[in-house]
Amino acid sequence: MRGYAGKAEMSAEAHPVVAVLGGGQLGRMLVQAGQRIGVDCRLYVPGPETVTSGAAPAISAAWDDEDALRCLADGATVATWEVEHVPLGTVAFLSRLVQVYPAASVLVNVQDRMLQKGLFDCLGLPTAPWMAPDDLESCREAAARFGLPLVAKARLGGYDGRGQRILRCDADVVEAWNQRGPYGFILERFVSFTDECSIVSVHGQDGEIRHWPVVENRHHDGILTTTLAPHPAWSPGLQARAEAIASTLLRKLNYVGVMAVELFRNGEVLVINEVAPRVHNSGHWTIEGARCSQFENHLRAILGRPLGETAAQGYAAMVNCLGTMPDAHHTEDLGVHRHDYRHQPRTGRKVGHLTVVGATVAERDARLAVLQQRLAAITV
Ligand code: AMP
Repeated sequence: MRGYAGKAEMSAEAHPVVAVLGGGQLGRMLVQAGQRIGVDCRLYVPGPETVTSGAAPAISAAWDDEDALRCLADGATVATWEVEHVPLGTVAFLSRLVQVYPAASVLVNVQDRMLQKGLFDCLGLPTAPWMAPDDLESCREAAARFGLPLVAKARLGGYDGRGQRILRCDADVVEAWNQRGPYGFILERFVSFTDECSIVSVHGQDGEIRHWPVVENRHHDGILTTTLAPHPAWSPGLQARAEAIASTLLRKLNYVGVMAVELFRNGEVLVINEVAPRVHNSGHWTIEGARCSQFENHLRAILGRPLGETAAQGYAAMVNCLGTMPDAHHTEDLGVHRHDYRHQPRTGRKVGHLTVVGATVAERDARLAVLQQRLAAITV
């Protein structure tokens, strides 16, 4: 165990204490939301790479360090995670010491893409047809059944397009099979879509569900670059369809907390890409663009408090900063809300985000256009 902040320092609080597995930017924003509502968060940082510089008391230790996990749980009101790739054994161990929300059973159902896709099928929810191949022959069978291109996705550990490849010909299929990782992959039909969107929802302990408006997500190389909230093609029908999908999953999983469903939209049709069992990048706009943010509502839900309102306030756009954070003076005059995660710069890494909010779509779009011009000028 490294960098334990000290039991005395951590346990003298009168506020509820939320223990968070993970210490990246999502943890950081949970900490900040907690500060606004009198909740103390304590982070568990699995490696030096993800240290959230001084955001809250933090324990830095391996996922399987039982002494460190006991320290994390000591005096905590409830525990949660901000990253879904926590080993199940860690969550199971922690669950014996303190109530964990969402429950470990949620991770069992969604961490492995094969089980997650199986869950969608069992519930009759729309998702791209898929197969979990056992051998090269079944990979070729998937190619024959779904057609090429096919999308191969690692069963475990993939995110932001990592662990994923597009197979365009038989040679790609053979290569994917030969280079499969230890846990294998699933093969999914390539979906054609108008755009990608998501719905972020929260389920309280008393069963209440609230949803933020559906948003559009724009990606580059599989990484989210921009979220527009609400979705430019938002309609009551789109919202209702997305809410029905999210509510079905939240209820089936006995979920408590915030969950995101990433979707492909083709006109009126929604197809689930994947579920994120945590606060989500496409919900960062809610900090300034909604009555209650996803971070505050996650804390409210897991502490059994009444949920805050999820209605949008104006029109927001969130832009991710990848690699390096632009200096504040480049955007200061634009009324931009700047979130610097204080990460070490690294190519492609999410190091911060910027949010603009307008009273109208036109105002938001005009601000976003200027912001994007400025950012492009900096990176040239
Ligand atoms: P993921 O890591 O599953 O979120 O995938 C990253 C990106 O790959 C998505 O945001 C999509 O742009 C693309 N993608 C994933 N699955 C498919 C699919 N079945 N068909 C087409 N594009 C996909």
